[in-house]
Amino acid sequence: MGLLLKIFIPLLGLVLAFYFYSAPENFNEEMLRGKRVIVTGASSGIGEQMAYHLARMEAHLLLTARTEAKLQKVVERCLELGAASAHYVSGSMEDTALPEVVVREAENSWGGLDMLILNHIGHSHFNYFNGDVGHVRKLLETNFVSYVAMTVSALPMLKESEGSIVVVSSMAGKVGTPFVAPYSATKFALDGFFSSLRHEFIIEKVNVSITLCILGYINTESAIRAVSHAIRDTPAPKEECALEIIKSGALRQRELHYPPRVVSSALLLQLIAPDFLDSLVRSNYKVENVKR
Ligand code: NDP
Repeated sequence: MGLLLKIFIPLLGLVLAFYFYSAPENFNEEMLRGKRVIVTGASSGIGEQMAYHLARMEAHLLLTARTEAKLQKVVERCLELGAASAHYVSGSMEDTALPEVVVREAENSWGGLDMLILNHIGHSHFNYFNGDVGHVRKLLETNFVSYVAMTVSALPMLKESEGSIVVVSSMAGKVGTPFVAPYSATKFALDGFFSSLRHEFIIEKVNVSITLCILGYINTESAIRAVSHAIRDTPAPKEECALEIIKSGALRQRELHYPPRVVSSALLLQLIAPDFLDSLVRSNYKVENVKR
């Protein structure tokens, strides 16, 4: 018993230190100056905010999403804010050719790439799973397979620059959450794929970092539209969230937890009291407002 406690207490300390660990404060905006960065899903929400931060930091930007008119405006604003350069490729990640087209555009424009920020998501319903297998397939293509395809196309340039891959995921990609089954599946898939790839990079001494961003509820228009009627949480600000994602990528962190306390506490509870965490998750929803 005594020996068990001697092992258990330091182990618990280590686990706590790991989960409450926040980014070391040695980030410097100059780290991004002149860097060549692709941001997907950059026409709105967190992706748009990341584009503005990177522009202020004087990075070169290649933005992508479906809506050309929105991308044009974001690019204009990026140039006003001081981006070293900014342009876009419009298209849907449901189109399996798009990832290579975007990466080739970066190669033609810059001859290299320093950071790949994978952030886009396709539309999904916030509701009880309705059995639509076709929707799950389509969402996997947009939210997961296109991330893999972008990575495959960009890897030669990222190896050359010893660059970074930043994957934007969610609490729903770590912890089971109701009403988002297809979305949650695509985010868990990202964790599996990129965590496996990280091992292989280390084994093969490939100096490309992989940062997985585990986000809680963020105040983007689309998230508020989709879930605010049914969720008790207050959303965290998208501007700060976007900055934390960029910092974590530049610092080559393994994971970002944002907002830090909410996400880290949930992940710790998942380890020590998973059923209790599940009941907390369910109590966070106004189930009566979710109509089938
Ligand atoms: P938004 O809906 O605001 O932005 C999504 C972006 O993806 C838009 O630029 C959209 O532009 C683009 N997009 C949509 N469909 C496609 C498609 N088929 N092909 C290519 N691009 C597409 O989302 P958020 O900013 O809220 O979320 C950004 C990331 O953060 C996502 O990975 C999300 O899972 C994650 N996250 C967000 C949370 C939140 O509460 N907001 C919580 C947890 C994680 P367009 O329509 O022009 O194509």
